[in-house]
Amino acid sequence: MLDYWNSRIERAPLDELREIQTRKLRQLVDTVYRSSQFYRKRFKEAGVKPEDIKTLDDVTKLPFTFKKDLRDNYPTNMFCVPLNQVVRFHVSSGTTGKPTVVGYTRGDIDCWTTSLARALTACGLGRGDVIQVSYGYGLFTGGLGLHYGAEEIGASVIPMGVGNTERQIELMQDLHATAIACTPSYLLHMNEVAKKMGISIKDETDLKVAILGAEPWSLETRKRIEDTMGIKAYDIYGTSELSGPLFTECKEQNGIHVWADHFLLEVVDKNGDPVKEGQRGELVVTTLSKEALPLIRYRVGDITILNNEECECGRTHPRIMRILGRADDMLIIRGINVFPSQIESVLMTIPEVGEHFQIIADRNGELDELTVRVEVTKAAFSDKLADLMKLEKKIEYELHKVLNLSTKVELVETGTLPRSQGKSQKVIDKRKI
Ligand SMILES: [Zn+2]
Repeated sequence: MLDYWNSRIERAPLDELREIQTRKLRQLVDTVYRSSQFYRKRFKEAGVKPEDIKTLDDVTKLPFTFKKDLRDNYPTNMFCVPLNQVVRFHVSSGTTGKPTVVGYTRGDIDCWTTSLARALTACGLGRGDVIQVSYGYGLFTGGLGLHYGAEEIGASVIPMGVGNTERQIELMQDLHATAIACTPSYLLHMNEVAKKMGISIKDETDLKVAILGAEPWSLETRKRIEDTMGIKAYDIYGTSELSGPLFTECKEQNGIHVWADHFLLEVVDKNGDPVKEGQRGELVVTTLSKEALPLIRYRVGDITILNNEECECGRTHPRIMRILGRADDMLIIRGINVFPSQIESVLMTIPEVGEHFQIIADRNGELDELTVRVEVTKAAFSDKLADLMKLEKKIEYELHKVLNLSTKVELVETGTLPRSQGKSQKVIDKRKI
């Protein structure tokens, strides 16, 4: 098995990476200014010209780009190449307003595929592996993205897609899948279904690796998945606007490597100012290689911490530490910031708690209320009301320790809460309805 897909570039000295980034940034700024009315207008509004960008630090002179810009320029008004150079479209359905359309040139697809080939290799996968891709295929980027990456490293791909869970488990056994790529909540669901079928994923399949993403998940959920299924679970990151899934953790499982020769990262506070090194803030990405739809200082909306230290694995490319959630997922309850991932972290440390939960924010008169509905494992579910009340109190106490906020916990039986096959809807904010 290979240690690196491209050892030379993945372990390139930082100076060399900065040199590549600087050259590509200057090129990019030049190209978008020439080829895109949208960017030319934005640059003029910000009072910046391509020749003002000489060093990497000059990136902060450039204006931000937002998801709203993609929607406002629906479908292809932000593209920087003629449409006859576009070989594929992906479309993400927005929960509000128009969807966003991303176009890819041949070069964009190659770059995306290479990013994932590096990433999957970093997770210890390669020729001889059988990778079950259980992300949605089609307009969603997950399925096709992983598919191309997995083929590139010489693995055998099962292009499963989402759904038909029993068949997924049968094929996982029969075709000896060694890895699966899907959302963490879907893998947990699959594990439940396997149990019902009398199959132990841990003992009766060849699965050893899971590549999990498309929704935030906690370290505690990882531990549960790894322990109950006997696998290593790696976090994968990317968004449809940046191409799709692009980056994963390496075997160190301590941050997601972002390929610096293709992407330039910043982390900013809510005013758009850079945070201090090691502080958490919103991720901002400039695509250095994308041709059809390059993005300049794109406000991704995910909250993370950037780590520029060289990794134990030998890769020099920066890492984003676990995504804490999206800036717009953050709930403000009685003035306190709450990320669903914090609640998940607490729940997954309590053995009586099952894998599924739901967070409901509501308003009672003037007062915000947070209710957490929690599935209890079959083993822990009791007929005795006193036992359940004791458990409720215990969970409320543990949540209070971390959130510094009183919550109401409601215990429900296993199988009560809705299961999702794609992204799970864990948070319901009734205050917005
Ligand atoms: Zn590493």
